Order: sequence, then C-alpha cells, then structure tokens
Amino acid sequence: MKHSMPRLPYAMDALEPKMSKETMDYHYGKHLQTYVDNLNRLTENTPYEESTLEEIIRKAEGPVFNNAAQTWNHIFFFEALTPSQPPLPEELAEAFNSSFGSVEIFKEQFTKAAAGLFGSGWVWLVKDMENRLSIISEPNAGNPLRKGLAPLMVVDVWEHAYYIDYRNRRADYIKAFWELIDWNKLLERYKQ
Ligand code: MN
Repeated sequence: MKHSMPRLPYAMDALEPKMSKETMDYHYGKHLQTYVDNLNRLTENTPYEESTLEEIIRKAEGPVFNNAAQTWNHIFFFEALTPSQPPLPEELAEAFNSSFGSVEIFKEQFTKAAAGLFGSGWVWLVKDMENRLSIISEPNAGNPLRKGLAPLMVVDVWEHAYYIDYRNRRADYIKAFWELIDWNKLLERYKQ
C-alpha cells in the first residue's frame, strides 16, 4: 500500500517553546517525509507493495524495515504529544504503581534509559501479554512489535529530534518531553 504522512493533532507551532516550529518543520516535515518517501520507493513492485506498515515491520529486514519502522515510530511519537497536557489518569497511575513501584520510579527509569541510550534510537514503554509494563531501549529504527510487545509510549532520542532546540542537551529535551506527553492517548493505547 502507498504510505502517507499522518495528520498531526496540533499545529506545527503548538508545542513551542518546548518543541519549536523549526524542529517540527525538520523532524516531521523533512525527516518523516523522507522515511515515507523512501518506503514507498523501496516497496514499489515488491511483495511488500500491498502490506501494512505493521506487516512490513514484523517481517522485513534492511532498508525496507528501517524506513517502515522509522515511519511507524515517528507517527506513534508525534501523535502522543499535546500542547495541553491532561492530568495522569488514575488507571495509568495504578498500572505504573504495580509494574514499577510508583509513578516517580517509572519516570526515573524511563528518563535514565532515554539519557543513557548510546547513539541513535528509541526508548519505549511497552505492555506484555499479561498487561505488565516495562521499558525497553531500541537502537536505530528498533520497534517492539518485533518482540510481540504492545508499545504505549516512545521518545525519539535521535539527535535530529532535539539538536535544533537543545543542541547536545538531551536531558533538557527529555524533561520537555515529559511535559508534552498526552496521557489520555497512552490510556487509550493501554486499554486496547
Ligand atoms: Mn526522529
């Protein structure tokens, strides 16, 4: 199938100053667009031409996998950001308590994983078959669907995600990320 750019649930300048319009112009407008274009070019007239993104991510290797996963990961990342963060829903707080001990411990562990991932990649909050939550770090285009896990949240720690706004200060970007997360979107994913 032909893959297309997702519609964002907010304006390009809506996340300022935590995430600038310039970052969105490059990150969403150029990086994501390139992954989508590459994926369409690489899958044209191949067995993957009619496959969904998820099917490609589960089966493909090399450049087809990389561009499909980068497309999926970015859509998943952007669609869970919001300029007006809702309070953490009680049901999610309880899930964090039972899997990590407390909401604070979850945040500390996730922040540590995001700050500590060497090079480019993604840090995920995932749910397993028994509804247990855990944090996993994936280098490059890594995606937990490959491991049979259900992603709930992700932070992009490729330098292109933060270099315009925060230069080399990844920790400041992660701090801003916490204030942009749409908890209601996470709850929706958690209940699926
Ligand atoms: Mn990115």
